[in-house]
Amino acid sequence: MKRIIFLVDMNAFFISCEMSRNKSLKGKPAAVAGDPKYRSGIILAPNYEARKYNIKTTMLVHEAKKLCPDLILVPPDHKFYSQKSREVMGILSRYTPVIQQNSIDEAWLDLTGCTLLFGSPREIAENIMKTLMVELDLWCSIGISENKFLAKMASERKKPLGITEIWVSDIKEKIWPLPVREMYGIGKQTEKKLVEMGLFTIGDIAACDQNILYEALGKYGIELKRLANGIDTSPVEASPVQDSKSISRSETLARDITDLEEAKVVLMELAEEVGIQAREQNFKGKTVSITIRYSDFKTVTRQKTVKPTFLTKEIYKAGEKLLEENWNDKKPVRLLGIGLSSNITDKFTQLNLFDIIESAPEGKKQEKLELAMDSIRKRFGMDVIKRAKILKDNDD
Ligand SMILES: [Mg+2]
Repeated sequence: MKRIIFLVDMNAFFISCEMSRNKSLKGKPAAVAGDPKYRSGIILAPNYEARKYNIKTTMLVHEAKKLCPDLILVPPDHKFYSQKSREVMGILSRYTPVIQQNSIDEAWLDLTGCTLLFGSPREIAENIMKTLMVELDLWCSIGISENKFLAKMASERKKPLGITEIWVSDIKEKIWPLPVREMYGIGKQTEKKLVEMGLFTIGDIAACDQNILYEALGKYGIELKRLANGIDTSPVEASPVQDSKSISRSETLARDITDLEEAKVVLMELAEEVGIQAREQNFKGKTVSITIRYSDFKTVTRQKTVKPTFLTKEIYKAGEKLLEENWNDKKPVRLLGIGLSSNITDKFTQLNLFDIIESAPEGKKQEKLELAMDSIRKRFGMDVIKRAKILKDNDD
């Protein structure tokens, strides 16, 4: 059966959250910008009015002000954005339990087999978009395809409020003419390499000899060729329950970075989110870990033991030290993450089923539960549900 995968990407998420609670920002150029106490003032999220002035994420505040003197700056409120993100995911989980959150503002949904329940892929997408607008006053773009890579590529085609279908049969026309930089996962450094090799479009990668790509980029080169041909069999992996023994956040960066100070800004933001959640749950962790993913997709994780803490400052301090020890100016970074956990390394993960049920509207829970169980069983076998149930009982 052909899979149906969505990538739902919230448009200008942070500033849109701000506009949803402060309507006076609407229609005016505005941006969420970093707290000057911690950093040199970086634009974190401009709204679409600000983007008309060419204001972009990671631009310095004073540069942005030069482009648009009337720009309204709003300090970040990560607790609020995390809350809104949970609300978004809650709405998405009405459509399928198989959701993989890719970042605070986007997620893949596997809707295979859901069309009988909810209509054609486009109808489902329109429904999701409308629901997010009506209930949360937030905009999104949705990419639709039969795999995660093409769904992500499709979601990028039209912003804001775009619904774009790109199926494998469309890639020749819709994907191959695009410059390599527009391929999901390709950063500046890889772009440079590819261009030096005479590969300018995604179609060039698709047609390039596999051995040549392997020589230049290793396994990643082969992966690129596969993706450029629209081949991606990776499953939408329903996120494991965040057991209370571990809290983590990561972020794929808007562009690859090589500057340590810039990386620290991002790490601070993430540490703040981890700290907030840890304090909400009154959970003190003893291990701080960081994740660094380089532009070639190589990923390292490093950890450090600390005195039990839930303080942002302590979490950040340990993370910063690890980052400094492992930083390499020559290796551009595309994703950073930080986590706080207890020393118990419980590798057991379960599906996010009960979270999904909890978020369902009252009265619809039984219906959601049974649909969700069927869907998960179909995909992962009977065992999964049993394990989750046993765990749940033990928790009670
Ligand atoms: Mg996004």
